[in-house]
Amino acid sequence: MNKNLTQKLSKPIIKKVAIIGAGPGGLATAIALKSQGVDVQVYERAQQFRPAGTGLGLAPNGLNALNAIVPGIVETLKSSGCEVNHTVLKNIQGETIRTNQTKYLEQYGQPLLTVWWYRLQQVLASRLPSEIIHLNHRCIGFHQDENGVEVYFDGQKPVHADLLIGADGVNSVIRETLFGEGQPNYIGSMCWRAVIEYHHELFNDYQLVFVKGDKQFMYILNVGGGYTSWISRKFSPDYSLSQNADEVKSRILQELADWDKSFRAVVEATPAEQIWEGPICDRPPLTHWSQARVSLLGDAAHPMAPAMGQGANTTFEDAYELAECFSDSATIEAALTSYEQRRIERTKLIQARSAVGEIRYYDDFTSSNHTQQQQMTLNNDFHKWVYSYKPSVVR
Ligand SMILES: Cc1cc2nc3c(=O)[nH]c(=O)nc-3n(C[C@H](O)[C@H](O)[C@H](O)COP(=O)(O)OP(=O)(O)OC[C@H]3O[C@@H](n4cnc5c(N)ncnc54)[C@H](O)[C@@H]3O)c2cc1C
Repeated sequence: MNKNLTQKLSKPIIKKVAIIGAGPGGLATAIALKSQGVDVQVYERAQQFRPAGTGLGLAPNGLNALNAIVPGIVETLKSSGCEVNHTVLKNIQGETIRTNQTKYLEQYGQPLLTVWWYRLQQVLASRLPSEIIHLNHRCIGFHQDENGVEVYFDGQKPVHADLLIGADGVNSVIRETLFGEGQPNYIGSMCWRAVIEYHHELFNDYQLVFVKGDKQFMYILNVGGGYTSWISRKFSPDYSLSQNADEVKSRILQELADWDKSFRAVVEATPAEQIWEGPICDRPPLTHWSQARVSLLGDAAHPMAPAMGQGANTTFEDAYELAECFSDSATIEAALTSYEQRRIERTKLIQARSAVGEIRYYDDFTSSNHTQQQQMTLNNDFHKWVYSYKPSVVR
């Protein structure tokens, strides 16, 4: 965390913080608060850190936020992931429709990086003392009063904290306990994905390949270290899940039956049990994320469709801003009010745009040039606004 912020916090207003979830959001927030002298403890349901999650695109807004929390981390992520200089759009026959040289660095001061969720988790966890990350702690609820929050876990002792942050993802127990909304919304897109050690000459010159089919598309990302992340999505008004891993693999290969063998090969090379199948979901935006001593962050606060690749990026913005608010405010209530004011409107717009973008992915190439041009201008303006986010205290 930068020096100005640490200096402002000579008297932290909270001593002990419990964070639920050791994903990108929980870990980044823990680093940010810990560097302000706060006693932070992170509780994660997984029994151990293990290869999981998808390939993520980290964009300038997320990288700027993360770099303000952990100066220099972008350099580490470049070596744990992959800097994207070239992207390519292909059709399902494998023919190139368009290639692009990315201009993020020139336009926004940070590159586009691709990184495996698991590697990102490892990089962030390595910045924290291991004893403050408590694995095998599945949170099942909490109780709060004016003295603090009691947090409950499945089969583990409860813990007490001054502040509880739910960074426990789209199916957040903390959000459910606060607002009781039930299941997330299915937004009409089914997803199959995996990360495997894989190389194909087709991907030599491009770090990111996007293949557009009929109501179906696939991303193939180089996520560094010899690993490839593939993500296939299909428009599907209703969804059903396969019964077992072998069925998942046969199903996705069936979905790609007409696709060029280079695309099918990456799926064929993936062990069935490593393929994740599931619906793409979001939730309606909330008007508040907090109640008294409890608040939300990342996917728990604003789960969004992956169309814009902004879930983790906006999560890092949350982590930075939350820590800033605690450094600036005299009470927990003031800090959380300020956090919501800084975050809800922005993430609401990005959530809405991501949901529209997810379905727009399935538009065919035949819309008129004029419509495509109008759409591109709107997208460019929106992307500019998203990527231009800068932490308020810049190093
Ligand atoms: C196909 C796909 C592609 C994506 N692409 C991008 C992209 O390109 N760029 C981008 O920025 N984002 C992308 N995202 C979104 C990104 O993965 C999420 O927004 C990001 O991981 C959110 O971080 P988080 O820490 O809030 O939640 P999560 O990553 O979901 O982490 C939550 C953590 O909490 C733990 N947990 C859950 N419940 C409990 C409990 N009860 N008790 C204790 N621990 C618990 C989980 O085990 C997990 O470790 C993509 C998502 C998908 C599905």
